[in-house]
Amino acid sequence: VPTAEPAIFARRESAVRSYCRSFDTVFTRATGATLTDTDGRDYIDFLAGCSSLNYGHNDPDMKAALIEHITRDGITHALDMYTDAKAEFLETFEKLILKPRDMDHRVMMTGPTGTNAVEAALKLARKVTGRQNVIAFTNAFHGMTLGALACTTNPGKRAGAGMPLSDVTHMPYDGAAGEGVDTLPMLEAMLDNPASGIDAPAAFIVELVQGEGGLTAARTEWVQGIARLAKKHGALLIIDDIQAGIGRAGSFFSFDEMGIEPDMVTLAKSLSGFGLPFACVLVRPEHDIWKPAEHNGTFRGNTHAFVTARVALEKFWADDRFKSEIAEKALVLTTALQGIADRIPGAFLKGRGMMQGVDVGSGDLAAAICAEAFRNGLVIETSGAHDQVVKVLAPLTIPMDQFRKGLGIVEAAVQTC
Ligand code: PLP
Repeated sequence: VPTAEPAIFARRESAVRSYCRSFDTVFTRATGATLTDTDGRDYIDFLAGCSSLNYGHNDPDMKAALIEHITRDGITHALDMYTDAKAEFLETFEKLILKPRDMDHRVMMTGPTGTNAVEAALKLARKVTGRQNVIAFTNAFHGMTLGALACTTNPGKRAGAGMPLSDVTHMPYDGAAGEGVDTLPMLEAMLDNPASGIDAPAAFIVELVQGEGGLTAARTEWVQGIARLAKKHGALLIIDDIQAGIGRAGSFFSFDEMGIEPDMVTLAKSLSGFGLPFACVLVRPEHDIWKPAEHNGTFRGNTHAFVTARVALEKFWADDRFKSEIAEKALVLTTALQGIADRIPGAFLKGRGMMQGVDVGSGDLAAAICAEAFRNGLVIETSGAHDQVVKVLAPLTIPMDQFRKGLGIVEAAVQTC
């Protein structure tokens, strides 16, 4: 992995990092699935802003709408005022996303980034139920603010808080007790038994594909079981669709076609479509109980993001064509990654849709593969804390030939390493 950093970053930027610092160059342009550095070298983007750029970089239609909005001196920021941009986003979201799914959820703008949405959902669930405890799952990642971090299991990330994080019970995720072992009966027994000492939960928070936790995908039956358990225990079901949503796991919501009805859904990352910060919680109307100012924040809802998000919805989700395109690419991805996994002893495929990867068994090998791929013009990373999983997060819009080319670079890197 390259270590030399361009001087200004080493000298002046905080040393805190999650990932991306192994890309030892300065990027300056990006279109579609291509990133270009200051030397004019192109890279295929298999990171897509960690799923915040599902529609690629600088989508021409979103760009045109944004330029038009700015050129006519459209509102740039409006706190909670009614604006045309917000109205158009809400109308489009209602028409294309909520109504076809019979969802009557309200859209609650939170702070700008994913963890703000999670924080709002946790806070509201506690207020609604009057309970404190939250059920989260092994290998979960929900964000870095204190409430969301308490739901996150990774010890390295938790250590950053410098204090104990409480009021969350972590339970085994689907598959966490070993292959073929259903963790649901275990969960049910623990929750049913007062002697287990688990406080009555306000909410269950769950990702259906663990984006930062090794790309484990929960089975439909397990997800349905979790929904049933939440209901049985009077807890709200929060689906964290920040990474797996907006098409990444195959359809707009990761729970589409699973027959569950979440009380809340957290969305962020690719919601704006253009890499602009925009997060929200979808809340069932009966839980939308906050009085004015019980939850606020200066940047709740970004007007420019409303503009691009509306265009993204109209362009990609007005019919099923985009979903079919994702399915076609997901199949190509599965085939390519299975071929790669077959070549590495003990390696196996993880994930679903356009968030799949290969568990290569060691963090060092995964890092070497990513570094070699980068030398050959591909930006690719591992799955967060689960650094032995090489994770493909290409823009969903990537042209098929470029997608195959990128997968070929991964394959060649595996052969070299
Ligand atoms: N939840 C999930 C599932 C995520 O993957 C992430 C980020 O990767 C977050 C929450 C936090 O989002 P953000 O980094 O925008 O705060």
